[in-house]
Amino acid sequence: MTRNNGEVWLVRDPSFGDCGKAKIVDHLSADPRVAAIVRFNGGDNAGHTIVVNGTKIAVHAIPCGVIRNLEHPVLSVIGRGMVINLTRLFAEMTSLRERGISVIPENLLISEGTHLTLTYHMALEKARETSNSRKNTTSRAISQTYALARLYQGVRAGDLRNLDRMSELIDLPLAYVNAILEKVYGLTAVTKDEVMAEILAYREQLLPFLGNEIIVLNRLLKQEKVIICEGAQSGMLDPDLGIYPNTTASNTWPGAIQSGCGLNPRWITRDVIVVKAFTSRVGDGHLVAEIHNETADLIRQKGQEYGTSTGRPRRIGWNDQVVGRFCAMVGPGTELAITKVDVLTGIEPLRICTDYLLNGRLIEIFPTTVDELNHCQPVLEELNGWTKDITGVTSWNELPLNTQAYLTMVAKPFDCPISMVGTGPDRKQIIVL
Ligand code: GDP
Repeated sequence: MTRNNGEVWLVRDPSFGDCGKAKIVDHLSADPRVAAIVRFNGGDNAGHTIVVNGTKIAVHAIPCGVIRNLEHPVLSVIGRGMVINLTRLFAEMTSLRERGISVIPENLLISEGTHLTLTYHMALEKARETSNSRKNTTSRAISQTYALARLYQGVRAGDLRNLDRMSELIDLPLAYVNAILEKVYGLTAVTKDEVMAEILAYREQLLPFLGNEIIVLNRLLKQEKVIICEGAQSGMLDPDLGIYPNTTASNTWPGAIQSGCGLNPRWITRDVIVVKAFTSRVGDGHLVAEIHNETADLIRQKGQEYGTSTGRPRRIGWNDQVVGRFCAMVGPGTELAITKVDVLTGIEPLRICTDYLLNGRLIEIFPTTVDELNHCQPVLEELNGWTKDITGVTSWNELPLNTQAYLTMVAKPFDCPISMVGTGPDRKQIIVL
């Protein structure tokens, strides 16, 4: 279904993140009908990397559409479902500009509804991290920002237009956070001056970027344009559908585009599921098909599996079909992009996790509770690997038969056709089917 022939294309990851979504978004954005690329969830805890002619460009809060601007105009949109940290956002803009990428109000729209991560959110995050055993976050106070927003104590980008109102709005969350900092953690309170100083440092620069993305995006659809929604994080990290509590703070499945940028999920015509040929996960939390031997080190090294935002080494697992089947049930896509298959060249034996055994019995669907997951064992199937270097291969027929068979097996649970295969980090290292 389309809206006046405009289309929404969604790019998302059903598993644990860092699967190379940015490269797929970048590839799709070469289509001249693409007018906008929107981030609708998460904050600058996401890290998206694109390699253009050997140069690595990483973005965190700004959609990777800004990079496509080097060739043709694409509007990047930070939707209201995101949270932004002004200091980090402007630092990101500066680093993009240093690479010759223009970031101006004509090509970047920041929703006036986007919640701000301020000094006191960061102070609370730091206090919690030093006192708490959960070291699974990127320390960017993303969850603190969403949490205070849900307590009706958020401050949104559009509030900056009226400084008096802004100043009033801060009082409540500041008092709340300071009470926790002082009484729970015995720390020094954040002063209002500190918060206002951060805001005033960026306010003038920010105002020209602000607007109502709902109007802009729905207008583009009426003009028969294509909008790409760039998912951040991943399905298994969704706070409701994923492995709670080791999840991210914002929703990650297709429905999130509705509240995240005001686009109706019914306008999605291409829902591209991006999966890595193997699995990786950064930080704590279950990874049932985790590899615990030197094969994991080999894959980590070859695949450069270190967090884009934090540099933390990622844990490595076999491709997981239980996750794939969950995705096919909860949020089936229209096509599948499989990335990083080049990394598995030479890996012997090659395995795939086909099922989980819970206390010795096969389970029907991905479990909801940590307790169940604690008792899950992977059922692994062995497949034939390949040794031919497939880096940079651009046609399916050039792939060894064993690689083709492996990819077909990875795709099976998703119940949708393979449309792209990543054979290296560079923009050009891709098979399009
Ligand atoms: P995202 O968070 O899903 O956008 O993932 P990232 O942008 O962090 O991508 C993870 C890493 O994989 C980046 O360094 C990419 O350059 C790299 N990458 C993406 N696709 C491929 C691929 O097909 N092969 C290889 N070897 N690396 C890839």
